[in-house]
Amino acid sequence: MACVLPRVLATALAACLCLPGAAPAFENPAPSRPIAQDGYFQTIARVDDGVWLIAQPQPFHIQPIGNVVVIEQSDGVVLIDGGGSPGAGRRIVDLVRSVTGKPVKAIAITHWHGDHVLGVASIVQAWPTAEIIATDVTAAHLRGRSMKAYPKGAPDAALQAAFDQRLDGAETSLRDALAKPDLSTREREGFQASQRLLAQYREDTRNLVLALPTRTFVESLKLDDATHPVELRHPGRGNTDGDLIAWLPRQRVMATGDLLVAPVPFGFNAYPAQWQAALRAMQAQRPSMWLPGHGAPMRDDAYVGRVIELIQHTRDAVAPLAKQGVGADAAKKRIDLSADRARFAGDDDWLKRWFDRYWTQPFVDAAYREAKGEPIEQGEG
Ligand SMILES: [Zn+2]
Repeated sequence: MACVLPRVLATALAACLCLPGAAPAFENPAPSRPIAQDGYFQTIARVDDGVWLIAQPQPFHIQPIGNVVVIEQSDGVVLIDGGGSPGAGRRIVDLVRSVTGKPVKAIAITHWHGDHVLGVASIVQAWPTAEIIATDVTAAHLRGRSMKAYPKGAPDAALQAAFDQRLDGAETSLRDALAKPDLSTREREGFQASQRLLAQYREDTRNLVLALPTRTFVESLKLDDATHPVELRHPGRGNTDGDLIAWLPRQRVMATGDLLVAPVPFGFNAYPAQWQAALRAMQAQRPSMWLPGHGAPMRDDAYVGRVIELIQHTRDAVAPLAKQGVGADAAKKRIDLSADRARFAGDDDWLKRWFDRYWTQPFVDAAYREAKGEPIEQGEG
Protein backbone atom coordinates (compact mmCIF):
# COMPACT_ATOMS: atom_id res chain seq x y z
CA MET A 1 0.00 0.00 0.00
CA ALA A 2 1.52 3.27 -1.07
CA CYS A 3 0.07 5.43 1.66
CA VAL A 4 -1.35 4.41 4.96
CA LEU A 5 -4.79 5.73 5.76
CA PRO A 6 -7.72 4.19 7.58
CA ARG A 7 -8.95 0.96 6.09
CA VAL A 8 -10.92 1.19 2.81
CA LEU A 9 -10.53 4.96 2.43
CA ALA A 10 -6.84 4.21 2.83
CA THR A 11 -6.64 1.56 0.18
CA ALA A 12 -8.75 3.48 -2.27
CA LEU A 13 -6.86 6.70 -1.88
CA ALA A 14 -3.62 4.80 -2.18
CA ALA A 15 -4.89 3.43 -5.45
CA CYS A 16 -6.04 6.65 -6.99
CA LEU A 17 -5.41 9.80 -5.06
CA CYS A 18 -1.92 9.82 -3.57
CA LEU A 19 -0.62 12.21 -6.15
CA PRO A 20 2.97 13.33 -6.35
CA GLY A 21 3.80 17.00 -5.91
CA ALA A 22 2.74 19.69 -3.49
CA ALA A 23 -0.78 19.86 -2.14
CA PRO A 24 -2.73 23.02 -2.95
CA ALA A 25 -3.14 25.53 -0.13
CA PHE A 26 -6.09 24.85 2.14
CA GLU A 27 -8.67 27.18 0.69
CA ASN A 28 -11.80 25.21 -0.07
CA PRO A 29 -13.42 24.16 3.21
CA ALA A 30 -15.95 21.35 2.92
CA PRO A 31 -19.36 22.69 1.88
CA SER A 32 -21.70 23.30 4.77
CA ARG A 33 -24.51 20.94 3.75
CA PRO A 34 -25.28 18.73 6.77
CA ILE A 35 -23.75 15.26 6.70
CA ALA A 36 -27.12 13.70 7.57
CA GLN A 37 -28.36 14.59 4.08
CA ASP A 38 -25.61 12.46 2.60
CA GLY A 39 -27.15 9.36 4.16
CA TYR A 40 -24.01 8.78 6.22
CA PHE A 41 -25.54 8.33 9.67
CA GLN A 42 -26.91 4.87 10.28
CA THR A 43 -30.61 4.32 10.97
CA ILE A 44 -32.41 1.29 12.42
CA ALA A 45 -35.14 -0.72 10.70
CA ARG A 46 -37.03 -3.84 11.80
CA VAL A 47 -36.47 -6.80 9.46
CA ASP A 48 -38.30 -9.50 11.45
CA ASP A 49 -39.79 -9.99 14.91
CA GLY A 50 -36.98 -9.17 17.31
CA VAL A 51 -34.46 -8.51 14.51
CA TRP A 52 -33.32 -5.10 13.26
CA LEU A 53 -30.70 -3.83 10.85
CA ILE A 54 -28.67 -0.71 11.54
CA ALA A 55 -27.44 0.56 8.17
CA GLN A 56 -26.49 3.70 6.28
CA PRO A 57 -29.52 4.97 4.28
CA GLN A 58 -27.18 5.78 1.40
CA PRO A 59 -25.15 2.57 1.26
CA PHE A 60 -22.05 3.65 -0.63
CA HIS A 61 -19.47 5.90 1.04
CA ILE A 62 -15.73 5.82 0.46
CA GLN A 63 -15.26 5.47 4.23
CA PRO A 64 -18.29 3.33 5.06
CA ILE A 65 -19.73 2.18 8.38
CA GLY A 66 -20.41 -1.54 8.59
CA ASN A 67 -24.00 -2.68 9.13
CA VAL A 68 -25.01 -3.87 12.59
CA VAL A 69 -27.60 -6.60 13.12
CA VAL A 70 -29.61 -6.38 16.37
CA ILE A 71 -31.10 -9.65 17.66
CA GLU A 72 -33.29 -9.65 20.76
CA GLN A 73 -32.95 -12.84 22.81
CA SER A 74 -34.84 -13.55 26.04
CA ASP A 75 -32.06 -12.36 28.35
CA GLY A 76 -30.41 -9.66 26.26
CA VAL A 77 -29.39 -8.43 22.85
CA VAL A 78 -26.84 -9.91 20.44
CA LEU A 79 -25.22 -7.54 17.98
CA ILE A 80 -23.45 -8.61 14.83
CA ASP A 81 -20.64 -6.05 14.41
CA GLY A 82 -20.12 -2.80 16.27
CA GLY A 83 -19.70 0.12 13.85
CA GLY A 84 -16.67 1.92 12.48
CA SER A 85 -15.66 4.51 15.08
CA PRO A 86 -16.29 5.53 18.71
CA GLY A 87 -18.83 8.10 17.45
CA ALA A 88 -20.66 5.52 15.32
CA GLY A 89 -20.62 3.19 18.35
CA ARG A 90 -22.32 5.82 20.52
CA ARG A 91 -25.02 6.32 17.88
CA ILE A 92 -25.50 2.53 17.71
CA VAL A 93 -26.06 2.45 21.49
CA ASP A 94 -28.83 5.03 21.08
CA LEU A 95 -30.39 3.16 18.16
CA VAL A 96 -30.43 -0.14 20.10
CA ARG A 97 -32.04 1.64 23.07
CA SER A 98 -34.70 3.05 20.75
CA VAL A 99 -36.05 -0.46 20.02
CA THR A 100 -35.44 -2.49 23.21
CA GLY A 101 -34.87 -1.99 26.91
CA LYS A 102 -32.73 -5.15 27.14
CA PRO A 103 -28.97 -4.88 27.59
CA VAL A 104 -26.51 -5.90 24.90
CA LYS A 105 -25.00 -9.20 26.08
CA ALA A 106 -22.76 -10.04 23.12
CA ILE A 107 -21.19 -8.42 20.06
CA ALA A 108 -20.02 -10.85 17.38
CA ILE A 109 -17.46 -9.37 14.99
CA THR A 110 -17.67 -10.54 11.38
CA HIS A 111 -14.07 -9.64 10.47
CA TRP A 112 -11.21 -7.44 11.60
CA HIS A 113 -11.69 -4.34 9.39
CA GLY A 114 -12.03 -1.05 11.26
CA ASP A 115 -15.39 -0.12 9.74
CA HIS A 116 -16.90 -3.06 11.70
CA VAL A 117 -14.92 -3.00 14.96
CA LEU A 118 -13.88 0.51 15.96
CA GLY A 119 -17.30 1.28 17.50
CA VAL A 120 -17.26 -1.75 19.80
CA ALA A 121 -15.46 0.11 22.64
CA SER A 122 -18.34 2.62 22.87
CA ILE A 123 -20.86 -0.22 23.02
CA VAL A 124 -19.10 -2.04 25.86
CA GLN A 125 -18.83 1.26 27.68
CA ALA A 126 -22.65 1.32 27.70
CA TRP A 127 -22.95 -2.42 28.52
CA PRO A 128 -19.70 -3.42 30.29
CA THR A 129 -20.60 -7.10 30.70
CA ALA A 130 -21.13 -7.68 26.96
CA GLU A 131 -18.96 -10.41 25.50
CA ILE A 132 -16.97 -9.62 22.35
CA ILE A 133 -16.95 -12.69 20.12
CA ALA A 134 -14.79 -13.38 17.06
CA THR A 135 -13.18 -16.26 15.24
CA ASP A 136 -9.71 -17.10 16.54
CA VAL A 137 -8.24 -15.84 13.25
CA THR A 138 -10.00 -12.47 13.49
CA ALA A 139 -9.01 -12.16 17.16
CA ALA A 140 -5.37 -12.66 16.17
CA HIS A 141 -5.65 -9.86 13.57
CA LEU A 142 -7.23 -7.53 16.12
CA ARG A 143 -4.54 -8.24 18.71
CA GLY A 144 -1.65 -8.28 16.27
CA ARG A 145 0.03 -6.56 13.35
CA SER A 146 -3.09 -5.96 11.23
CA MET A 147 -4.44 -3.46 13.75
CA LYS A 148 -1.17 -2.27 15.23
CA ALA A 149 -2.02 1.35 14.41
CA TYR A 150 -4.93 1.35 16.88
CA PRO A 151 -4.78 1.77 20.68
CA LYS A 152 -5.78 -1.47 22.46
CA GLY A 153 -7.94 -1.19 25.57
CA ALA A 154 -7.33 2.54 26.25
CA PRO A 155 -6.64 5.68 24.18
CA ASP A 156 -3.01 6.41 23.29
CA ALA A 157 -1.88 9.94 22.43
CA ALA A 158 0.91 8.95 20.03
CA LEU A 159 -1.20 6.47 18.07
CA GLN A 160 -4.08 8.96 17.97
CA ALA A 161 -1.75 11.65 16.60
CA ALA A 162 -0.50 9.26 13.91
CA PHE A 163 -4.07 8.38 12.98
CA ASP A 164 -5.06 12.06 12.78
CA GLN A 165 -2.10 12.64 10.46
CA ARG A 166 -3.41 9.94 8.15
CA LEU A 167 -6.70 11.82 8.03
CA ASP A 168 -4.79 14.98 7.08
CA GLY A 169 -3.34 13.00 4.16
CA ALA A 170 -6.80 11.84 3.13
CA GLU A 171 -8.08 15.40 3.30
CA THR A 172 -5.26 16.57 1.03
CA SER A 173 -5.97 13.75 -1.40
CA LEU A 174 -9.63 14.70 -1.61
CA ARG A 175 -8.73 18.33 -2.29
CA ASP A 176 -6.31 17.22 -5.00
CA ALA A 177 -9.00 15.07 -6.56
CA LEU A 178 -11.47 17.96 -6.56
CA ALA A 179 -8.90 20.22 -8.19
CA LYS A 180 -8.90 18.03 -11.31
CA PRO A 181 -10.72 19.76 -14.17
CA ASP A 182 -12.17 16.69 -15.88
CA LEU A 183 -14.51 15.45 -13.15
CA SER A 184 -18.13 14.82 -14.01
CA THR A 185 -20.81 16.56 -11.94
CA ARG A 186 -21.54 13.28 -10.19
CA GLU A 187 -17.89 12.74 -9.31
CA ARG A 188 -17.54 16.30 -8.05
CA GLU A 189 -20.59 15.84 -5.82
CA GLY A 190 -19.17 12.55 -4.62
CA PHE A 191 -15.85 14.06 -3.62
CA GLN A 192 -17.58 16.99 -1.92
CA ALA A 193 -19.76 14.57 0.06
CA SER A 194 -16.57 12.66 0.93
CA GLN A 195 -15.07 15.85 2.37
CA ARG A 196 -18.10 16.21 4.66
CA LEU A 197 -17.81 12.54 5.53
CA LEU A 198 -14.13 12.94 6.42
CA ALA A 199 -14.89 15.90 8.70
CA GLN A 200 -17.50 13.77 10.50
CA TYR A 201 -15.14 10.78 10.61
CA ARG A 202 -12.52 12.99 12.24
CA GLU A 203 -15.06 13.87 14.96
CA ASP A 204 -16.12 10.26 15.32
CA THR A 205 -12.58 8.90 15.66
CA ARG A 206 -11.53 11.08 18.60
CA ASN A 207 -10.28 8.91 21.52
CA LEU A 208 -9.94 5.82 19.36
CA VAL A 209 -9.86 2.53 21.25
CA LEU A 210 -9.94 -0.99 19.89
CA ALA A 211 -11.88 -3.35 22.18
CA LEU A 212 -10.49 -6.89 21.96
CA PRO A 213 -12.45 -10.16 21.79
CA THR A 214 -13.26 -11.85 25.08
CA ARG A 215 -14.46 -15.13 23.51
CA THR A 216 -13.28 -16.87 20.37
CA PHE A 217 -14.20 -19.96 18.37
CA VAL A 218 -12.74 -21.90 15.47
CA GLU A 219 -15.68 -23.33 13.47
CA SER A 220 -18.97 -22.47 15.13
CA LEU A 221 -20.59 -21.20 18.28
CA LYS A 222 -24.25 -21.35 19.22
CA LEU A 223 -25.93 -18.61 21.24
CA ASP A 224 -29.05 -20.53 22.22
CA ASP A 225 -32.41 -18.97 22.91
CA ALA A 226 -36.07 -20.03 22.96
CA THR A 227 -37.12 -17.76 20.10
CA HIS A 228 -33.95 -16.33 18.51
CA PRO A 229 -31.11 -18.83 18.58
CA VAL A 230 -28.04 -17.55 16.73
CA GLU A 231 -25.48 -19.78 15.06
CA LEU A 232 -22.13 -18.09 14.52
CA ARG A 233 -19.99 -19.83 11.93
CA HIS A 234 -16.65 -19.49 10.23
CA PRO A 235 -17.51 -20.45 6.63
CA GLY A 236 -13.83 -20.75 5.68
CA ARG A 237 -11.75 -18.03 4.08
CA GLY A 238 -13.63 -15.58 1.90
CA ASN A 239 -13.61 -11.82 2.15
CA THR A 240 -10.94 -12.21 4.86
CA ASP A 241 -9.28 -15.29 6.35
CA GLY A 242 -11.36 -15.16 9.55
CA ASP A 243 -14.89 -14.34 8.36
CA LEU A 244 -17.84 -14.91 10.70
CA ILE A 245 -21.44 -15.24 9.56
CA ALA A 246 -24.55 -15.37 11.73
CA TRP A 247 -27.48 -17.64 10.92
CA LEU A 248 -30.85 -17.40 12.64
CA PRO A 249 -32.43 -20.80 11.89
CA ARG A 250 -35.89 -19.85 13.22
CA GLN A 251 -36.19 -16.62 11.25
CA ARG A 252 -34.04 -17.91 8.35
CA VAL A 253 -32.01 -14.72 8.45
CA MET A 254 -28.39 -14.75 7.27
CA ALA A 255 -25.99 -11.99 8.35
CA THR A 256 -23.01 -12.18 6.04
CA GLY A 257 -20.47 -9.55 7.05
CA ASP A 258 -18.54 -8.33 4.00
CA LEU A 259 -18.94 -11.60 2.12
CA LEU A 260 -21.87 -9.65 0.74
CA VAL A 261 -21.62 -5.89 0.20
CA ALA A 262 -23.90 -3.73 -1.96
CA PRO A 263 -23.97 -1.82 -4.22
CA VAL A 264 -20.25 -2.41 -4.92
CA PRO A 265 -18.46 -5.39 -3.36
CA PHE A 266 -15.09 -4.94 -1.60
CA GLY A 267 -12.28 -7.12 -2.94
CA PHE A 268 -9.26 -6.40 -0.74
CA ASN A 269 -6.98 -9.34 0.14
CA ALA A 270 -9.78 -11.81 -0.48
CA TYR A 271 -9.75 -15.54 -1.28
CA PRO A 272 -11.57 -15.97 -4.61
CA ALA A 273 -12.52 -19.66 -4.80
CA GLN A 274 -13.19 -19.98 -1.08
CA TRP A 275 -15.36 -16.87 -1.19
CA GLN A 276 -17.57 -18.43 -3.87
CA ALA A 277 -17.78 -21.64 -1.84
CA ALA A 278 -18.82 -19.72 1.26
CA LEU A 279 -21.59 -17.88 -0.62
CA ARG A 280 -22.84 -21.14 -2.16
CA ALA A 281 -22.92 -22.82 1.25
CA MET A 282 -24.98 -19.92 2.56
CA GLN A 283 -27.34 -20.15 -0.43
CA ALA A 284 -27.84 -23.84 0.36
CA GLN A 285 -29.42 -22.83 3.71
CA ARG A 286 -32.09 -20.99 1.68
CA PRO A 287 -32.27 -17.83 3.79
CA SER A 288 -35.46 -15.80 3.52
CA MET A 289 -33.52 -12.66 4.39
CA TRP A 290 -29.91 -11.67 3.70
CA LEU A 291 -28.32 -8.94 5.78
CA PRO A 292 -25.13 -7.77 4.06
CA GLY A 293 -22.08 -6.12 5.66
CA HIS A 294 -23.01 -2.90 3.83
CA GLY A 295 -26.23 -2.14 1.98
CA ALA A 296 -29.92 -2.85 2.39
CA PRO A 297 -31.57 -6.15 3.42
CA MET A 298 -32.21 -8.58 0.56
CA ARG A 299 -35.21 -10.91 0.34
CA ASP A 300 -33.77 -13.21 -2.31
CA ASP A 301 -30.35 -14.41 -3.43
CA ALA A 302 -30.25 -12.69 -6.85
CA TYR A 303 -27.49 -10.32 -5.74
CA VAL A 304 -25.58 -13.20 -4.14
CA GLY A 305 -25.63 -14.92 -7.51
CA ARG A 306 -24.29 -11.78 -9.17
CA VAL A 307 -21.39 -11.61 -6.72
CA ILE A 308 -20.55 -15.28 -7.32
CA GLU A 309 -20.54 -14.58 -11.08
CA LEU A 310 -18.45 -11.47 -10.66
CA ILE A 311 -15.83 -13.45 -8.76
CA GLN A 312 -15.89 -16.10 -11.49
CA HIS A 313 -15.59 -13.56 -14.33
CA THR A 314 -12.66 -11.89 -12.62
CA ARG A 315 -10.91 -15.22 -11.99
CA ASP A 316 -11.53 -16.31 -15.60
CA ALA A 317 -10.09 -13.05 -16.95
CA VAL A 318 -7.01 -13.13 -14.72
CA ALA A 319 -5.98 -16.79 -14.80
CA PRO A 320 -4.82 -17.00 -18.46
CA LEU A 321 -2.81 -13.79 -18.14
CA ALA A 322 -1.15 -15.01 -14.96
CA LYS A 323 -0.28 -18.31 -16.66
CA GLN A 324 1.22 -16.42 -19.65
CA GLY A 325 3.47 -14.56 -17.23
CA VAL A 326 1.78 -11.15 -17.66
CA GLY A 327 2.44 -9.12 -14.49
CA ALA A 328 -0.40 -8.21 -12.16
CA ASP A 329 -0.29 -4.50 -12.99
CA ALA A 330 -0.22 -5.16 -16.73
CA ALA A 331 -3.07 -7.64 -16.26
CA LYS A 332 -5.19 -4.93 -14.59
CA LYS A 333 -4.84 -2.78 -17.70
CA ARG A 334 -5.83 -5.58 -20.04
CA ILE A 335 -8.79 -6.97 -18.12
CA ASP A 336 -12.18 -5.69 -19.16
CA LEU A 337 -14.86 -5.99 -16.49
CA SER A 338 -17.03 -3.24 -17.96
CA ALA A 339 -20.05 -5.52 -18.42
CA ASP A 340 -19.86 -6.56 -14.76
CA ARG A 341 -19.25 -2.98 -13.73
CA ALA A 342 -22.44 -1.94 -15.52
CA ARG A 343 -24.38 -4.60 -13.61
CA PHE A 344 -23.21 -3.21 -10.27
CA ALA A 345 -22.69 0.51 -10.91
CA GLY A 346 -25.08 1.19 -13.80
CA ASP A 347 -24.09 4.43 -15.50
CA ASP A 348 -23.25 6.20 -12.24
CA ASP A 349 -19.77 7.73 -12.75
CA TRP A 350 -19.09 7.84 -9.03
CA LEU A 351 -19.94 4.17 -8.41
CA LYS A 352 -18.09 3.13 -11.57
CA ARG A 353 -14.96 4.83 -10.24
CA TRP A 354 -15.23 2.99 -6.93
CA PHE A 355 -16.07 -0.33 -8.53
CA ASP A 356 -12.67 -0.03 -10.19
CA ARG A 357 -10.95 0.93 -6.92
CA TYR A 358 -12.76 -1.32 -4.44
CA TRP A 359 -13.31 -4.32 -6.68
CA THR A 360 -11.25 -4.58 -9.83
CA GLN A 361 -7.88 -3.36 -8.62
CA PRO A 362 -7.67 -5.27 -5.34
CA PHE A 363 -9.49 -8.37 -6.53
CA VAL A 364 -7.38 -8.77 -9.66
CA ASP A 365 -4.40 -8.91 -7.29
CA ALA A 366 -6.09 -11.63 -5.27
CA ALA A 367 -7.15 -13.61 -8.35
CA TYR A 368 -3.65 -13.25 -9.77
CA ARG A 369 -2.09 -14.63 -6.61
CA GLU A 370 -4.61 -17.45 -6.60
CA ALA A 371 -3.78 -18.31 -10.21
CA LYS A 372 -0.07 -18.30 -9.42
CA GLY A 373 -0.53 -20.36 -6.25
CA GLU A 374 0.90 -17.52 -4.18
CA PRO A 375 -0.31 -16.87 -0.64
CA ILE A 376 -2.92 -14.14 -0.05
CA GLU A 377 -2.24 -12.22 3.12
CA GLN A 378 -4.34 -9.77 5.08
CA GLY A 379 -3.08 -6.18 5.09
CA GLU A 380 -3.07 -3.63 7.85
CA GLY A 381 -6.01 -1.50 8.94
ZN1 LIG B 1 -16.88 -3.32 5.69
